[in-house]
Amino acid sequence: MKRRSRVVVIGGGIAGCSTLYHLTQEGWSDVVLVERNDLTSGTTWHSAAQVTNFGMNQTMVGLKTHSINLYKELANDPNHPINYNHADGGIRLANTEEQMQGYHHFASMAKGMGVDFEVIDAKECQRRHPLISADNLVGGIWDPLDGDIDPYQLCHALTRKARKAGAEVYTNTPVTALDQYKDGTWKVTTEHGDIDCDIVVNACGYRVNELGAMMGVHHPVASMEHQYFLTEDIPEIAQAGHRMPLLRCPISDYYCRQDKGGLLIGFYEQNCKTWGMDGIDPNFVNALCPDDLERVADVLDGAFTRMPALMKAGIKSIVNGPITYTIDGAPLVGKIPGKRNAFCIIGLRAGLGEGGGHGWLLAQQIVHGEACYDTWCLDPRRFSQHTNVELTSLKAIEDYQNEFRFHFPHEHRPAGRPAKTTPLTPILAAEDAEFTVVNGWERVDYIKPSADFQTSHTFHFDEAFDVVAAEVDNLSQNVGLCEVSGFNRIEITGSDKYDFLDRLFCSHVTREPGKVGLGYLLNKYGMIKAEATVANIPLSERGVDRIWYGSAAASELHDMDWLKEHLREDESVQIKALTNDQTILVLAGPRARDVLSICSRGDWSKEAFPWLSVRECFIGFAPATVMSISFSGELAYEIHVPNASLYAVYLALRKAGEPHGMGLFGARAVESMRMEKGYLHWKADLITEYDPYETGLERFVKLTKGEFIGKSALEQRLLQGPKRKLVSLRIDSKDAPAYGGASIMEGERVIGTVSSGDWGHRVGMNLAYAFIEPEQAVIGRHLSVNILGEMVVAEVMASGPYDSNYSKILA
Ligand SMILES: Cc1cc2nc3c(=O)[nH]c(=O)nc-3n(C[C@H](O)[C@H](O)[C@H](O)COP(=O)(O)OP(=O)(O)OC[C@H]3O[C@@H](n4cnc5c(N)ncnc54)[C@H](O)[C@@H]3O)c2cc1C
Repeated sequence: MKRRSRVVVIGGGIAGCSTLYHLTQEGWSDVVLVERNDLTSGTTWHSAAQVTNFGMNQTMVGLKTHSINLYKELANDPNHPINYNHADGGIRLANTEEQMQGYHHFASMAKGMGVDFEVIDAKECQRRHPLISADNLVGGIWDPLDGDIDPYQLCHALTRKARKAGAEVYTNTPVTALDQYKDGTWKVTTEHGDIDCDIVVNACGYRVNELGAMMGVHHPVASMEHQYFLTEDIPEIAQAGHRMPLLRCPISDYYCRQDKGGLLIGFYEQNCKTWGMDGIDPNFVNALCPDDLERVADVLDGAFTRMPALMKAGIKSIVNGPITYTIDGAPLVGKIPGKRNAFCIIGLRAGLGEGGGHGWLLAQQIVHGEACYDTWCLDPRRFSQHTNVELTSLKAIEDYQNEFRFHFPHEHRPAGRPAKTTPLTPILAAEDAEFTVVNGWERVDYIKPSADFQTSHTFHFDEAFDVVAAEVDNLSQNVGLCEVSGFNRIEITGSDKYDFLDRLFCSHVTREPGKVGLGYLLNKYGMIKAEATVANIPLSERGVDRIWYGSAAASELHDMDWLKEHLREDESVQIKALTNDQTILVLAGPRARDVLSICSRGDWSKEAFPWLSVRECFIGFAPATVMSISFSGELAYEIHVPNASLYAVYLALRKAGEPHGMGLFGARAVESMRMEKGYLHWKADLITEYDPYETGLERFVKLTKGEFIGKSALEQRLLQGPKRKLVSLRIDSKDAPAYGGASIMEGERVIGTVSSGDWGHRVGMNLAYAFIEPEQAVIGRHLSVNILGEMVVAEVMASGPYDSNYSKILA
C-alpha cells in the first residue's frame, strides 16, 4: 500500500469510484481509493440503479447528462462492456394542472442544457407505457434518455479505468482515523497502515458521519429505509413488444422500471422510517434491513390501481436498504465547511443516476478549484451550524414523503421550523407575517391580510400579488420596515485589513472612515465568486476601527471560507463572524429620514449622512449601526442591531413611524423592488459561470488598481469577448414571471437563459434578467421566452427602469 498520495478518496460506492475515475480524467493519477469492505458493499450494490436526466436546475440536468454520456461510453467499451438499459425513456406523472406547469418550466430549463423533455397528455402517457391506466391523470413529462444500469459493473468499470490511469484501490481497508498536519495535509489511518495525502474525500454513503466524526464535522445527512420489490414476469410486458419506460408517480409515491420480464417497483411511503440515527452496526456490510411491506401498504394501492397487471404478478424478492437524504434533499458535493483540503460527495439519494456527474464536478473542484457549472446547489456550505441530527432527520422524512413532489415557487415546507429565529419572529408572527426560510432563518415573506390568508401552489402569480403590491406602494409613498434576519456579517480588523480586501475585490475597497461600498470578489478564472458590502466603522467606544463585510444570508460559510483561505500568515487581519449576533431592520421610503430623526439623536440630513455612509448611534436607547444603502431603490437605511436590543429598536421605529404611515414589508416586496432597480441576486444572477463584464458589472472592475484575484484571467477574457451578456427584459405577460432557467429561443435554438424574474409593482412591468448571446443584447430587441410552455415576447431594456437617475435614493 502506498504511504503517500495526492488524494485519498474514502468509500468505494458509486460516489467514491466516480470521483476517483474523474480525478484521473482531470489529470491527477497519484490518487487512491480506500474501501472498508468490497467495492459497492454499502448502498450501491442493491440500488434500483435507474438513471434519469430530470433535474430542477441546470446544474443537476447537466451533471446527469454527463452520467448518461459516460455510462453509454462504458457500456459500449468493446473489451469490458457493462449492462446499461439506455434510453428506455421515462415518465413523471401529474394529476394537476399545477404540476404540469412545473413540468413545462423544467422542460424549458432543460432545453438550455441541450436536453429535450416532452410534456405529454394522459393518453400519450398511456400509449408510451401500456401498463398504466389514464384515470385521474392530466399528463406527464417524458424523459427520453432514462434507463437503468448494473451498479456493480459500473463501479468496477470506473475503477478499472482509473487504475489504468495510475490510481490505486485498496479494498478491505477501513479508515479508522483522520488527522490534519499543521500544513493542512492529512494522515489517513487505516487498518493496514497510514497514508499521508494532500486532500481527503468523504464518500462514505450512510457511514458519512462516522468519517465526519474523525475530522470533527457533523454532516447534515440522514438515512431512511427504502424498499422496492421485483415481480415475476408480467405477460403484458412481453405483449407490448418493447421495454417499459420508467415511471415516477407523485400521486401515489412510487417508481417503477422493467426488470427482466417483470417490474421493479420502489416506494416512498408516508409511514417512513429513519435508519442508523443512533449508530450503525459495524457488521452491516452488503446487508439489507428486514422486509416490511406492511409499511408501504398506503402507496402500494396506488400502484395497483395505476397498473392493474401488477395485481396478478407474484413478488420475486424484496429489497429494503438505507438511502441517504440531506437537509434540503440535494446532495453535498464540494468543500467540507471550515476544513482545509477536505471534500465530500455525500447525501446522494439518486447516486447511480447522478454519481457520474457528481464525481465529475467534484474532481474539477479538487483539481481546478472550480467546476464548469456553478455548483452552489450542491455546495456543502449552503447551510450553517443549525443542522443537527434531529433537524436533518425531520427534513429527510419530509423529503422522503414528497420524493416526486417538486417544490413550487414560494413553497417552504413545514418540517423542522422554526429553526433560526430572532427576538422579533413571534412579534412579526403576531402581525400575521407569512414566513419564508433562508438558510434556516425565518424571514417575513409578506404580511397576510388576514390570519387565514393562504396562497395556492402555482407557477403563475399567486394570491399574494396584490398584498405585495400594497406593501411596495405604501413604502414608496410613505415608509416601510422589514426585518432581514441571518444576513451574513463578518467583522474584519487589523492593520492589513484593507490590503487584504484589496487583493480579493476587483474594485477599490473604500478606505474612507464612515463610508460603505459594494464590490465583487472573483475566483482565479475571473468569474464572480461573491458580492459584499464593505462598511468602514471608525474607532469608537464599541471597538477599534473595523470593517463590516456583509453578504447574502446563505453565503455565511462560503464567504468565510473564501476570506480565510486567502489570508496570508504574515498579515495582521482578524476575522470574526457576527451573523448570529446582529439583525438588520430595513427602513425604506420617502419618510425614512423623518422616522430615523424622530427616534435617533443626531443630524440625519443628506448632507450630514449621505448615501453610502455608516454611523454608530442609538435608536431610542438601544445601540445600532446605520448604513444609508438601499436595495429597494427608495431612500433607505439598513439598521444593524444586536439581537439583545432588536425588540427595543423595533418598538422605537414602529412608534416613530406611526405618524408617517409606516407599514411592514417582506422578502417578496424586496425581490420585486430589486428587479426594478437593476440589482442582482447572488447565486441567481451572480454565478461562477460568468465574469463581471458578462454580468454587466464593468463599473465595479478596476483593472488599473493593481493585483487582485482573477485579474489576469479577466484581462484574457476581455480579449476573447463575452460568451453571454446579462440583460434586463420586459416580459409581455401578466400571468407568470419568467423563472430562473427559462429558455430564450430563436426558433428551435436556445439563445439565452433567464436567471431571475418577478413583477415590478412600481413600474407595472413583468421583469427578468437573462444571460443571452452578446449579439442579441441590444436594447429594444424582441426575444421569445419559453414560460411554462408558451412562447412569450420579451424586450431587452435598459437595466433598472425604476427611478433611473437615483433621485429617490439620493433625496
Ligand atoms: C432501495 C434503494 C433503491 C435505490 N434506487 C436508486 C435508483 O434507482 N437510482 C439511483 O440513482 N439511486 C438509487 N438509490 C440510491 C443510490 O443507490 C445511492 O445514492 C448510491 O448507491 C450511494 O452511493 P455512495 O457511494 O454514496 O454510498 P455507498 O454505496 O453506501 O458507498 C459508501 C462506501 O463507503 C465505504 N465506507 C464507509 N465507511 C468507510 C470507512 N471508514 N473506510 C473506508 N470505507 C468506508 C462503505 O463500505 C461503502 O462501500 C437507491 C437506494 C436504495 C436504498
